[in-house]
Amino acid sequence: MTDIASQFSQVTQTIEQHCQHAQRPISDVQLLAVSKTRSADQVAELHHLGQIHFGENYLQEALDKQEALANEKIIWHFIGPIQSNKTRPIAENFSWVHSVDRLKIAKRLAEQRPAELAPLNICLQVNISNEENKAGCSAQEVLPLINELANFKQLRVRGLMAIPKATDDPHEQQQAFTAMKQLLAQCQENHPQLDTLSMGMSGDIGPAIDQGATIVRVGTALFGPRDYSNKV
Ligand SMILES: *Cc1c(COP(=O)(O)O)cnc(C)c1O
Repeated sequence: MTDIASQFSQVTQTIEQHCQHAQRPISDVQLLAVSKTRSADQVAELHHLGQIHFGENYLQEALDKQEALANEKIIWHFIGPIQSNKTRPIAENFSWVHSVDRLKIAKRLAEQRPAELAPLNICLQVNISNEENKAGCSAQEVLPLINELANFKQLRVRGLMAIPKATDDPHEQQQAFTAMKQLLAQCQENHPQLDTLSMGMSGDIGPAIDQGATIVRVGTALFGPRDYSNKV
């Protein structure tokens, strides 16, 4: 087996074990393979092993890979910071965006989503640990934003995304995930169609699944350490 094949099987097992532990069906949790800095060949290898959802952070890098892999049935998610002058290619070339944190960006994505494509799936990014200089809206801003976004026909608001503060303290880690779970539950009272909690990365897949993650975004555990000097 290649490294990617054995790591893929390990990550899949980790997800299954934590679903069992949390008494959740395996079908509840989707693996999003985070392929920033990885080559189109690496993405193709993982895709041919059965992985369908891939997440990218850097627009130009993502567009290059999409072009190289145009014949593959990959579902692309944009998970990186969004500049307002870069919304059009995102609206045109992705199925999901996890990193929307303000109305201006959502409005542009809605206007620029081609009418012949299905609505763009949106997660609102929440700065759940209240970190300075971190992307994401505050917890208080979430419901008013979702109320606005629900008006855009070319968007389908699916739920919330977070990158909690990096910490070695399992209690602190769990608190952030629990806060996200509660926040989604509050939003679901007004918007019962919300079904997505995008949280958990290589280092915290388990605690995220315990607290209701429906998408875990995993890079390093699938592909190995990132080497930014090779960034394509
Ligand atoms: C890079 C990245 C990930 C994956 O992180 P790993 O620790 O490599 O699993 C997940 N989410 C976002 C938003 C990222 O930028």
